[in-house]
Parts: sequence; structure tokens; C-alpha cells
Amino acid sequence: MNSVLQHDLNNFENILEKTKKQGIDFLNNLENIPTSNKNSIDYSRELNELGLGSLAALEEFNARLAPLMVASSGPRYWGFVTGGSTPASIVGDWLTSIYDQNTQAVKAQGGVSALIEFETINLLLQLLGLPKSFLGGFVTGATMSNFTCLGVARQWFGKQFGKDFAKNGISEIIHVFSATPHSSSIKALSMLGIGSQNYTAIQTIEGNREAIDIVDLEQNIKNLNGKPFILISSAGTVNTADYDDFEAISKLKEKYNFWWHIDAAFGGFAAVSEKYKHYVQGWENADSITIDCHKWLNVPYESAFYLIKEQHTALQIETFQNSNAPYLGNPLENFNYFNVVPENSRRLRALPVWFSLVAYGREGFCDIIEKSTSLALHFGNALIEDGSFELLAPIRLNNVCFTLKGGENQDKVSDFLTKLNDTGIVFMTPTVYQNKKGIRASFVNWRTTENDIKIVIEQMKETLNALYL
Ligand SMILES: *Cc1c(COP(=O)(O)O)cnc(C)c1O
Repeated sequence: MNSVLQHDLNNFENILEKTKKQGIDFLNNLENIPTSNKNSIDYSRELNELGLGSLAALEEFNARLAPLMVASSGPRYWGFVTGGSTPASIVGDWLTSIYDQNTQAVKAQGGVSALIEFETINLLLQLLGLPKSFLGGFVTGATMSNFTCLGVARQWFGKQFGKDFAKNGISEIIHVFSATPHSSSIKALSMLGIGSQNYTAIQTIEGNREAIDIVDLEQNIKNLNGKPFILISSAGTVNTADYDDFEAISKLKEKYNFWWHIDAAFGGFAAVSEKYKHYVQGWENADSITIDCHKWLNVPYESAFYLIKEQHTALQIETFQNSNAPYLGNPLENFNYFNVVPENSRRLRALPVWFSLVAYGREGFCDIIEKSTSLALHFGNALIEDGSFELLAPIRLNNVCFTLKGGENQDKVSDFLTKLNDTGIVFMTPTVYQNKKGIRASFVNWRTTENDIKIVIEQMKETLNALYL
């Protein structure tokens, strides 16, 4: 063994102790760590011939790279839809690295850690009130989940014409309908060879809504004259957390032949709360669903899962199987994750979620969801009270979409947000909603409190005053 490696091996406990101590220091100080910084590094560092060993590498990391880190898992990072990491999720994440399983088979093929993934999916189905007719697995994020689900949808579409697109390529025009798809679904259409422009934009409901207009949807379906199509629907749009009407879509599914996909990246967690579960009523009739765990479930990146109805497993295998590697076995006889997802080798990505669900239970997550939504309302009210801001959309769930009050201030929005984000006190995301420049704050982090809202409102006032001086 290389002598530096040998030294590290002998010193393993000390190395991990130092790392643990550093982690605790960071997490205990998270509230005071800026949500943005402009620190930089010269990344032309030369590779050393002789290794430094873990502790010296840690020292260099602390001196040069740690200053790049921002408090994205802290209580005032409201940009995009960014979750934090609960204690249990960090336990699971650490142990995932320590056990370092390649999670594949459910029947002995060396290891069967995939059974833990099955158990975790089963727990998630219970949390979300979804039936066991869904099979699921973990991928890196909602983008890959959308890709996985729409990949199977593409294969299903070919089958309607007796064709195997996975084997022979796409030879039919694939009809895709959506009203307000997330950019990652459009990216998936591009990656799948369907084409990012090749979907029909269905109208949204009149008024301040991002949800699909069912009448326009049905009209477009009728225009297809019985041809199949793929529907990408939304459970929680990023701007205004709007939901398509899943009961109405369920009724259409009884009449027409289509693959129904739901992007429920964060909005799916509405199902956990009695107050909000009406938003997703009827979603169990979908063919596939995307859900992120690194957002509202508050586990570390990268964690999301797909749910696809068991009746489509054969199509899923056709799409993702390793067909020219006989040593991987017959995919229909032996369930292996590498035959149903894009990745082949995979870490035990389910473990942080397993720990979280066991540690906090249904009530823990219901509390996180309801706390987030009440904080969103609280923040919205504080904005209105202040008088300098206006909401661009009603607050349905956990996202607040707002802007500076008055059309004449539209050209100040970007400057205001840049200056606000530069303070490092809070981080929010720019957006455009109904042709207005706006700002988005998303509440998903388990640590956020009313006091954080107070701190942010104070800072917003200060930043705004400085802008008008
Ligand atoms: C965040 C998000 C995505 C993309 O998720 P990643 O985890 O970043 O890949 C897709 N859809 C919706 C609705 C989202 O909120």
C-alpha cells in the first residue's frame, strides 16, 4: 500500500473526528454564515506528485475552498426551491458513503441493499397516500426523474404504433401536451430526442393561474383524432405553486389514450397535510410522478425519486436495460435497478430518506410542510404591510411571488434583488411572471422561523432605502 494511504488508514479515526468536529462547527454557525459571497479561487492548482494525506488536504480545503461555501442549507436561503438537511438525513448521508454499496439487485447478487430502497419507496408511498401500484427508485434530482418517467412514456408512445423506439429510434411524431412545464421537463424532451420545441402549450386557466385549462386540453385532444399523446402536468409550479386539476385529468384518462406524467417535485408534499392534500386529489391515477427529496424532505443533495405504475415495468426495462451485457442477467426475472434507471452503478441514495422518515415520521413532515406554508403567508403579509411591495400571485402554498409596488419601479427590481442578495442575509430568485419582473421566495427549509422573516423584512427596507437615495 502507498505509504500516505497507509498512514491515513492508521489515522482513520482521528481524520473522521476532525471532519465531524468541522461539520458540527459549520452547522452550529449556519445562521451566521452568509447566503452568498463573492469569494473566488485560482483553480489552476497543480496536482502534487506526493500525496499530502487527508489532514493536510483538509487544512488546504479550509484555507482555500471552504470560503466558497454559502449557507444554502440555512434558514434564509429562499432562492429556487432549496431544502436543508435534517440531522437524521445527514446520518443517512454519511452512512451511505461509509457503507458504499452499489445498490442494484433485490435478489442476492452479492448485496441486496436495493431492498432498503424498496422499503424507503414503500414508506414514501405511505407518507404521500399513494397506492402500491407504483414502483419507484432514486435518482439524483427531479430533472433525472422527469427524464426517467418521460423516457418510459416515449417507449409507451411507440408501442401504440407497434414500434420499439428504444431499439429502433423514434419513427413517429410524438405528441406532448403541457401548460406550465418546468424547464427540466423541456430539457428531458431535448435529451430524449423528442425535441424541446415539440410540445403543444395548452392554455392556462383564465386569471392569475398557471394551471392547465381543461377545456383547451380536451379540444387539443380531440384535434388529435384518437392519436395517443403524452401529458406533462404540474403539481406545484415554481412561481406560484399552482396545480393542474387532477380529478378532471383522471376523467379525461377514462376517455382518451395518453401517458399521464406529473411533475410534483416539491408540490407533491401537499399530500402530507390535511390542509393541502386536496391539491393532489386524483394524482394516484397518473402513470408516472416525479418527486424531489432534496427540497421539502430536507435531505442533502442529490436525492429525488420517480414513481411509475407497475404495469409499465416491462416498458421501463425496454428503455433502460443493459441489453448487451449478459452477465447482468435476465431483467424480467431478476429486478435490478440498472435495468430501470439511467445510471448503472448507484450509491444507496435511499438511506438519507429512510433515516428521515423513521426519525421524524408523518407528523414531523406534516409540521415542516405546514410551518413552511404559514411562513410563506406571514412573509406575504409582511410585504403587503410594508407598502413598498406587491404580490404577483396569491400564496397557495410555500412560494411567494412578488415585486416592487408600482409599474414605474419595474426597472429597479433587478438592482434591488442583486443588492439584497449581496448582503448575504437572505437569498431569493429573480423571475418573470405575467410579463412582470418579479422575485420569488420559497419556504421549504426546516430551520426557518418567524424571526428570520423579521430579519429579512428589516434588510429589505434598508436595501430599498439605499436604492432610492
Ligand atoms: C426543482 C424542480 C425541478 C428540477 O429539480 P432538480 O432536483 O433541480 O433536478 C423540476 N420540477 C420542479 C417543479 C421543480 O421545482
